[in-house]
Amino acid sequence: MTVRPILTAPDPRLQAVSTDVDAVTDEIRTLVDDMAESMYAADGIGLAAIQIGVAKRVLVIELDKKDGKKNPVAYINPKVTWASDETAVFEEGCLSVPEIWDDVERPARIKAEYLDRNGKKQTLEADGLLATCLQHEMDHLNGVLFIDHLSRLKKSMAVRKLTKAKKLKETA
Ligand SMILES: [Zn+2]
Repeated sequence: MTVRPILTAPDPRLQAVSTDVDAVTDEIRTLVDDMAESMYAADGIGLAAIQIGVAKRVLVIELDKKDGKKNPVAYINPKVTWASDETAVFEEGCLSVPEIWDDVERPARIKAEYLDRNGKKQTLEADGLLATCLQHEMDHLNGVLFIDHLSRLKKSMAVRKLTKAKKLKETA
């Protein structure tokens, strides 16, 4: 398992629309394992493949690390099949949008289908943090970041801050 560098905004690669995985092969399982390692190394709770530069519809989420035991869940080709009218607001952050957190409103409950790491079709109904996290990560597969959900003013402030931080990093 390899920790791979995580892309940060602004980066045009993060706007790519990822493509479906044709078959869940060992190559995909290696990608999943690398994503999990990269996510843990960065202390995140979710990661989309595009965040390490791979434009495939693969997510890894780990919300309840119990007693330090790792149990990352892979969601391959995930699709929302139903979303509630009721919404929920969570303060979101993103490993690709460092140092910025803001409230985002999304459907409170969703139903989704996906393939697990063995290529088996699964369905789930999610609420709370998992519902938000899944929607945030699925957005990445369509090239959308959580700051794209903010007001135009807030988004432009965020982009300015990110651009500045990146320039400072490059000249450091
Ligand atoms: Zn994110």
